[in-house]
Amino acid sequence: MSFKPLAATQPAVVAVLQRSLANNRLAHAYLFAGDALEDMELAARELAKAVNCELPTKQGGCDRCDSCRKIDAATPPGGQHPDVQWLRPESKSRVIVIDQTRELEKSLHLKPTMGRMKVGVIVEADRINQNAANSFLKTLEEPPDRSLLLLLTAAPGQLLETVRSRCQRVQFGAAAAREPEAAHAPLVDGLLALLGGGGSVLKAYKLFDTIRGFLDAEKKQVEEQVEQTAQLDRYRQVADSKWLEKKEEEMKAQVEAEYRRRRKATVVTLEWLLRDALVCIEGGDAALLFNRERGDALRKLAAAQTRERALANLETIETLQDQLERNVNEALALEVALLRLSGLTTPAA
Ligand SMILES: [Zn+2]
Repeated sequence: MSFKPLAATQPAVVAVLQRSLANNRLAHAYLFAGDALEDMELAARELAKAVNCELPTKQGGCDRCDSCRKIDAATPPGGQHPDVQWLRPESKSRVIVIDQTRELEKSLHLKPTMGRMKVGVIVEADRINQNAANSFLKTLEEPPDRSLLLLLTAAPGQLLETVRSRCQRVQFGAAAAREPEAAHAPLVDGLLALLGGGGSVLKAYKLFDTIRGFLDAEKKQVEEQVEQTAQLDRYRQVADSKWLEKKEEEMKAQVEAEYRRRRKATVVTLEWLLRDALVCIEGGDAALLFNRERGDALRKLAAAQTRERALANLETIETLQDQLERNVNEALALEVALLRLSGLTTPAA
C-alpha cells in the first residue's frame, strides 16, 4: 500500500488525500502546511506516484512500476520522472526566484511525456520572492490541464493571501518525532544538570560546548550527505562552469535548509524537557511526559523549581528558536539562552 510510510505519523493527511484520489476529486493545487517538512515531502512524492502510477490502486501508487520507481529514485533529489518537478530555495539568500518558477510554469504547460499528470512540488514555498509569486499567480489562477501543484511550507502566513486562497490547504500534524532522539541524550542530560545546578556558569558553558559540538557534527554530516547525493565531482571535467556553479549553489541551499531543520529539532528536544519539568510542577501524570525515562530526575527538578521559573525557561527556549529562525548569530543566541536557563541572568521581559 502506498502512503504507508505516512500512515503512522500523519493519519489524517493520508485519509484526506486517499479519499480525494478515490473519488477523483483532486484539487489543482494544494498547500501542505505544518512543521513536518519531511512528512510533507513524503506526501508530495506519494501523491505524485499516485497520479502517475501505471497500475494505481485505491490507496495510491504501486511502488513497483517504472513510473513509481522513477519518482522514488534517490538521485537526483526529487527523482528522475520527467513529469515531476521539484523546486527548492537556492542561492545563499534561500529564496525561490522568478527564473525557477518560470521554468516550472513552462514545464507544467507541456503535455506529460511519461505519466498522466504534470506535478510541480515547491518546497519551502514561503521562500518565493514577490516577483516570482506574482508571475506564478497566473498559473494558479488558470492551472494547465492535467497539472498538479503542491506547495509545502512551515510558514503559510508568509505566503501571499492570493496564493494561499487558490490552494486547498492540508494541515500536517507536528513533526514525527514522538520519541526522544537517542543522539540528543547528552544534550538533555546536560540541560537537566544545568537546571538543577542552581546557577553555575561552568555548567552553562559545558552544555554550550556540548551543543555546539553536536551541531557542528550535524552540519558535517549534512554536507557529506548532500555532496554524496550530488556526486558533483563526476561532472567536474565535462560540465560547463555555469551549470556547476548553479549546482553548487543548490547544494549550499540544501545543506543550509537541512542543517536548520536539524538545529530546530535539537532545540525542540530541549524545549520538550522544559515542558516536562512544567508538567511535573503542575502535578501532571507520568504518561504525559515526553522524556518518560527521566521521570525521577524531572520530578526532583520540579520539586526544586517554581512554576514561574519553569515558565520563564520555556519562554527563553522559545525566544532562542525565534532568533535562530531570524538568522541572528547562532553561538551568541545559544550562549545567552543557556545563561538564562542557568538562572544567572533574568529572562528578557
Ligand atoms: Zn506504480
